[in-house]
Amino acid sequence: MSNKQGTTDVILIGAGVMSATLGSLLKELQPDWNITVFEKLDKPGEESSNEWNNAGTGHSALCELNYTPEKSDGTIDITKAIKINDQFQLSRQFWSYLVNSNLIENPSDFIMPIPHMSLVEGDKNVNFLKKRFEALSKSPLFEGMEYSDDPETLKEWIPLIMEGRTSSEPIAATKIDSGTDVNFGALTRMLFTHLQNQGVTIHYQHQVKNIKRGNDGSWELKVKNLQNGTVERHHAKFIFLGAGGGSLHLLQKTGIPEGKGIGGFPVSGLFMVCNKPEIVEQHHAKIYGKAKVGAPPMSVPHLDTRYIDNKKSLLFGPFAGFSPKFLKTGSIFDLITSVKMHNIVNMIGAGLKNMALTKYLIQQLLLTKEKRMEELREFIPDAKSEDWDIVVAGQRVQVIEETEAGGKGTLQFGTKVVHAADGSVAGLLGASPGASTAVSIMLELIEKCFPEHLEEWKPKIKEMVPSYDISLKENPELVQEIQASTAEALCLTSELQEV
Ligand SMILES: Cc1cc2nc3c(=O)[nH]c(=O)nc-3n(C[C@H](O)[C@H](O)[C@H](O)COP(=O)(O)OP(=O)(O)OC[C@H]3O[C@@H](n4cnc5c(N)ncnc54)[C@H](O)[C@@H]3O)c2cc1C
Repeated sequence: MSNKQGTTDVILIGAGVMSATLGSLLKELQPDWNITVFEKLDKPGEESSNEWNNAGTGHSALCELNYTPEKSDGTIDITKAIKINDQFQLSRQFWSYLVNSNLIENPSDFIMPIPHMSLVEGDKNVNFLKKRFEALSKSPLFEGMEYSDDPETLKEWIPLIMEGRTSSEPIAATKIDSGTDVNFGALTRMLFTHLQNQGVTIHYQHQVKNIKRGNDGSWELKVKNLQNGTVERHHAKFIFLGAGGGSLHLLQKTGIPEGKGIGGFPVSGLFMVCNKPEIVEQHHAKIYGKAKVGAPPMSVPHLDTRYIDNKKSLLFGPFAGFSPKFLKTGSIFDLITSVKMHNIVNMIGAGLKNMALTKYLIQQLLLTKEKRMEELREFIPDAKSEDWDIVVAGQRVQVIEETEAGGKGTLQFGTKVVHAADGSVAGLLGASPGASTAVSIMLELIEKCFPEHLEEWKPKIKEMVPSYDISLKENPELVQEIQASTAEALCLTSELQEV
């Protein structure tokens, strides 16, 4: 790739965890490429990747019940759980590589060990959890998971939740100590500092307004400098649309056929937070319940110990809601301006098919603090309103598209990499499982966009991520090796960790 004046090899739009991850991978794979980043805000990691805008769960399916659906024959499908766990192991390996290579420091500033738990009530749910536990326990990826329906054991595991519980319904939980709380905001900031040290040019307060293809096949970006109002033109052979909720609009501007038909539906989120040390100290887990009937998968309630700015707090939520903005700092016209001739059928289809979801979101939006406290009291029976504040989380823009299984207007809850046939532009849409699987998603993007370099890059990828290209579920020894080495590098073992 050439490096003419005003031209760079790679442009990353957005300074969130996805651009940070892609930039860090590419810098290791091809150190001589020039990389430029444009971010509309004045620092990195301020939108969904910010620590207060997401739940910070290192998603590895240790506790999220929606990743293990019950099949019609009553057995548990663990396919998705295995995939997500496998993907999280890639993130752990890449972060460990960066730490071991002294490219980032102090992993405890972004990742902390915390037990991951699932909690259910009622005979049917207890039966489901037991089957889930039995199914997952057979896989080396879930080694160490414990199950209990004994109230005395549960009191030891989750005193804050068991205290004052009067329900006579059966209750059960699973617990696995190898879970993590990840401060994706801190990680993003660390990665951007690292990138800057490696010579990457980062322009903050620069908003990408338009993207068009030049005659030579490269891309021209129209970028507004928000500090002085001037408009700049920048060129690159490869662009990554890592703008989070803003990626759909940018994808539409590229005009690539692969982006046609895709729409987006924004779902906002709220958490309740408790900073009172005497309450915070009584809980030490991320504990996920079951989603309410009609609730989207990202609304599974959970009570989490969080580590932010060296302080422990408790977070409960998320409560979903609706805002037409695609970014927290976006515009109320985001939804309407994303509707185009090519996606209107899917948008209308999604609206008609998801009436129950729309109703659910409106109900959530109208909840008073006291109503939210009632939901929290299903976890902490004695929770007091004055101990909990509300924080507004990030926006998630769910992908709407036509799929084989769902037909037109299908609302998707996962992430989707969209890329041009020639690999010169790629964007990331959707939100879940999100930041935890950033390394896996960006490696997938690299495979799609840089196939001609893959053979040459593979040895380096394997050095950074030894389980790349290997299915971990069939390699118990490798799982053990990776979990031990990454736990050590990331200071996740209890002996190394000062909690
Ligand atoms: C409520 C909630 C809970 C979540 N919980 C979890 C969790 O527990 N675990 C997990 O792994 N993931 C979680 N996620 C998902 C995770 O936060 C996201 O997947 C991840 O942060 C997305 O990163 P990103 O880099 O794509 O986007 P962002 O972090 O949103 O970054 C995009 C950046 O692009 C910039 N930008 C936008 N448009 C432009 C433009 N035109 N020009 C220049 N810059 C632009 C924005 O300002 C922003 O800085 C959660 C998300 C939400 C909202």
